[in-house]
Amino acid sequence: MARVYNFSAGPAMLPEAVLQQAQEEMLDWHGSGMSVMEMSHRGKEFVSIAEQAEADLRELMAIPDNYKVLFLQGGASSQFAMVPMNLLRGKNSADYINTGAWSKKAIAEGKRYCNVNIAATTEENKFTSAPAQAELKLDAKAAYVHYTPNETIGGVEFPYVPETGDVPLVADMSSTILSRPIDVSKFGVIYAGAQKNIGPAGMAVVIVRDDLIGETIDGTPSMFNYQTHVDNDSMYNTPPTYTWYLAGLAFAWLKKNGGLAAMAETNQRKASKLYAAIDNSDFYANPVDPESRSWMNIPFTLANPDLDAEFLKEASARSLKTLKGHRSVGGMRASIYNAMPEAGVDALIELMADFEKRHG
Ligand SMILES: *Cc1c(COP(=O)(O)O)cnc(C)c1O
Repeated sequence: MARVYNFSAGPAMLPEAVLQQAQEEMLDWHGSGMSVMEMSHRGKEFVSIAEQAEADLRELMAIPDNYKVLFLQGGASSQFAMVPMNLLRGKNSADYINTGAWSKKAIAEGKRYCNVNIAATTEENKFTSAPAQAELKLDAKAAYVHYTPNETIGGVEFPYVPETGDVPLVADMSSTILSRPIDVSKFGVIYAGAQKNIGPAGMAVVIVRDDLIGETIDGTPSMFNYQTHVDNDSMYNTPPTYTWYLAGLAFAWLKKNGGLAAMAETNQRKASKLYAAIDNSDFYANPVDPESRSWMNIPFTLANPDLDAEFLKEASARSLKTLKGHRSVGGMRASIYNAMPEAGVDALIELMADFEKRHG
C-alpha cells in the first residue's frame, strides 16, 4: 500500500489512524455485527457514536454550555442561507466582510434575504490581506456580522477575531476550524463544512449561541430552521451517519494527540517553514501580506508559469498530489490541514529546492 501526501483543499487528507480504525470497525462496529453505515440513526449504537462525537468536539473547542452543536447536511454553502434565515430576527440588514471568493458567495446569498452592508473589502488589493479592525465600518443596527476567518482559495487568514460589540459575529470556519484554540464565546455562529479539517464530505458542523435560535424569516423551510435540528438532536431526518462517525473518530484522534494547542503548534511550524521556503527564493512567490497568511492553504506561483506542468509532474512522481492551484488563482496551492503530516510539508519543500536548482 502506498499512501500519498494529498494537498487537496477539500475533500482533504484524513489522519491515517482514523482510516485504519474505520477499516477495523467496518464490518462489525464494537460487536454490534453491523457496519456504522447499516445502523439505524435512532438505535442506541449510533446514538452513542453521535453523543460521543459532540462531547469530544465540545471538549476540544471548549464550547460553552449556552451553545448548541448541530451536525447538518447541505455543507457550508447551505449556511450562507441558513444564517440570514435564522439571524435576521426582525432586522433587515447585515454586515459582511469581503476577503475573497468564499466571502463573495456568502454575500451573494445574504443579498437574497436582506440588505448587505460591506463592512470592509480587500478587493482593491486583490484579496491579499485581511482588513484591520479599525477599517471595519460596522453598523450597530446590523442583525449580524459575517466573515470568513480563512479564505481557502486566496490563502488569507484573519490574525484576529473582529470585535463587533453586541452584534453577533458569524464565522465561516470551513478551512480553519480545529486548527488552533479559539474563544467560542466571541461568536454568535460558527459553521464549517466537514471535508477540510473535520472529516469526510457530506456534513457541516454548526455551533450556535442559544439565544439566536427560534425566530426565522417567513417561509423558512423546516430543514433550514436551527430550532428544528436543536429539537431533534440533529436527527430530524436521517443524518449523514457515516460522516458523523468518522468526524467523531477524528475528534478522538485530536484529543489523543494533544488537542488544539498541540495542533496549533504543529500547524504554525508547518506553515512557517513552507512560507520561509517561498520567501527565501526568487523562484517562488506568495502575494499575501505576511500578517494575514493562512496556516492551512498556501498558494504559491513559479517565476515561470510555463514550468507549472513540469512541477506538478515531478511532484506527482514523488507522491505529492493535488498541488495545482485553484483555477481562479493559477500556480500551486498546498493545503496543509491537521491531517497533513509534517513529513509531507518537508517533502514538498525538498522538491521545491531541488526543482529550483534544476529549472530556476
Ligand atoms: C469549502 C468551503 C465552503 C463550501 O463548503 P461546502 O461544504 O462545499 O458547501 C465554504 N466556505 C469556505 C471557507 C470553504 O473553504
